[in-house]
Amino acid sequence: MPGGSTPTRRRILCTHCSLVLEVDEAAKSVSCRHCYKRVVTEALIVKNYVAVRKFHTANRMRITKKGIVYAAVKADDLEIDGVLEGDALAMRGIRLTKRARVKGNLRGRTLVVQPGASLVGDVRIGPDCVPETAALEE
Ligand SMILES: [Zn+2]
Repeated sequence: MPGGSTPTRRRILCTHCSLVLEVDEAAKSVSCRHCYKRVVTEALIVKNYVAVRKFHTANRMRITKKGIVYAAVKADDLEIDGVLEGDALAMRGIRLTKRARVKGNLRGRTLVVQPGASLVGDVRIGPDCVPETAALEE
């Protein structure tokens, strides 16, 4: 091994089966060793139109002001500066900027809503609302 430095590892939850995986910080995706499905692990910045059933990453996701997402979204941290139509789950925080337009149910550890944001849907926020993350703290 050249250099002898070990790559930075981080613990994530599989976005499919919610079991714990340890991945290279630099990995863009991994195959889950529990359910064998592909797990996206790179940070996503959405600058365009996305319409899929599921839009998941075990990392940060930012929907920019030009981003329009029609999907069920799952991320570690989710920042919405554009449009989201679909339910969203964030293992950590959700942040809606003043430009955010959201129609869907939100679930996450924390929620920040800037004045001017629009949000139509049910909201479940708090550590108890994301029981999946308990496995990461063991
Ligand atoms: Zn899995």
